[in-house]
Amino acid sequence: MNTAIIEQTLTTKVGQQEKRIPITIAYGDGIGPEIMKATLSILDAAGAPLDFDEIEIGEKVYLNGNTAGIDASSWDSLRKTRVFLKAPITTPQGGGYKSLNVTTRKVLGLYANIRPCVSYHPYIKTKHPVMDVVIVRENEEDLYAGIEHQQTDEVVQCLKLISKPGTEKIIRYAFEYARAYNRRKVSCFTKDNIMKMTDGLFHKTFDEVGAEYPEIVKEHLIVDIGAAKLAETPEQFDVVVMPNLYGDILSDVAAQITGSVGLGGSANIGQGFAMFEAIHGSAPDIAGLNKANPSGLILAAVQMLVHIGQNELAEKIHNAWLRTIEDGIHTADIYKLEVSKVAVGTIEFTEAVIERLGQKPEKFAPVDYSHSIANFNIKVTPVKPAIKELVGVDVFLHYKDRNPENLAALIKDIEQSGLKLTMITNRGTKVWPDGFPETFCTDHWRCRFKNEMKNGVSYQVVVDLLQKIHNRKLDIIKTENLYLMDGKPMFTAGQGQ
Ligand code: NAD
Repeated sequence: MNTAIIEQTLTTKVGQQEKRIPITIAYGDGIGPEIMKATLSILDAAGAPLDFDEIEIGEKVYLNGNTAGIDASSWDSLRKTRVFLKAPITTPQGGGYKSLNVTTRKVLGLYANIRPCVSYHPYIKTKHPVMDVVIVRENEEDLYAGIEHQQTDEVVQCLKLISKPGTEKIIRYAFEYARAYNRRKVSCFTKDNIMKMTDGLFHKTFDEVGAEYPEIVKEHLIVDIGAAKLAETPEQFDVVVMPNLYGDILSDVAAQITGSVGLGGSANIGQGFAMFEAIHGSAPDIAGLNKANPSGLILAAVQMLVHIGQNELAEKIHNAWLRTIEDGIHTADIYKLEVSKVAVGTIEFTEAVIERLGQKPEKFAPVDYSHSIANFNIKVTPVKPAIKELVGVDVFLHYKDRNPENLAALIKDIEQSGLKLTMITNRGTKVWPDGFPETFCTDHWRCRFKNEMKNGVSYQVVVDLLQKIHNRKLDIIKTENLYLMDGKPMFTAGQGQ
């Protein structure tokens, strides 16, 4: 607790008996300190009963040799307060630095990322005058598991992990949110026409959980057309729930088309922990110039106040902010001659919001948080264990000759307890038997050994099979077991199979 603002916050409260709520804060990098100071001074002026515990994160910590970007001692503060208001940080490029944002979300189990994206037409210029979309992004899984390997000279891979409980939690959160905030529709975007098992699970869970919310309209869109419609006609959407990667990309698109990425705040919610941040990054191009729009972090702080039950204060700050915007007091990113009245810097914008605390907007509808809740009781249905039977194995090989027939000739006579070579694919496309000579092949091959009788085998059979392949001096880079679960195959066919 070492800044003038925090000291001021504390001293103004001396002698008061109110219950104070501890919050961990971090000033971050780039424009982080400017927008954090702005946000804290508004919280202070509004009379928020908060005690701030400052931790250091980001570039300085990374460059001190800590590849996680956060000191071990900072986790103690987070464990104690369980609420984190965080300014953006800069992740140095290369050097094995892991994204602190991803780490924090995953370590603290912050599975739901809530990003409201609202148009403030006609006071902020936007092509989309009617837009009030809440993106609910899954925050822990998908390609953000960050499990990547280089397997051959030519091929790297990233594992996409989607779990049933992880999916159910985020989809339930989206429906509970819609119900609590009187939203009429929940849309789900996936790419399950291609990723039939991972995105397929997300879609199926959406249908199952959605059935429990009959009053809410439900729709599923393939993410490509969903993204196109979101960018073109955002007024069609209300709450949109998505797996991690699509949600990350499309929430930036949605925030940007409201007028500026600088307007978006986000809440990262978990069981007993929450983190609040602007959706944008540290904007090093405008750092230290008093140009940054602090709105994203201010609106994140509003979400935080609702989360900690300070609804009245949340309403007071949000209404003052709306009044500032409709009064045409705009930072450079949203300043437009035809709609703005005064061009201001970060500090002046903050002062304008503080001056308006206690006022309501006259043109926008004032916000009303009197009944808002942020913490839902999200139950997860236990997954019934299936009867699992091993019926084969995909053996991945690093093999430099680009001709699949030559590879097949080396292994097609190998047999182990009924497991035989049934297919070879390259980058997922079947190239043997009966491949197309036109298909381009890399040095990364999948050889499917399967028991066509569909009898289960023991893992020892796979080990013995691998030994035979290894004896032929082939370079095995990984394996994937092929299972029947409750009698159904739980692996996809090759493309063209
Ligand atoms: P960015 O969001 O920082 O900036 C993109 C553009 O938007 C820039 O032109 C910037 O000036 C502008 N902008 C962003 N916020 C603004 C604001 N509040 N007011 C006015 N203009 C604003 O994205 P980037 O340039 O891709 O990333 C910069 C750094 O931020 C990188 O190191 C990246 O890793 C990091 N980053 C951090 C977070 C986070 O901490 N949550 C999120 C995204 C990116």
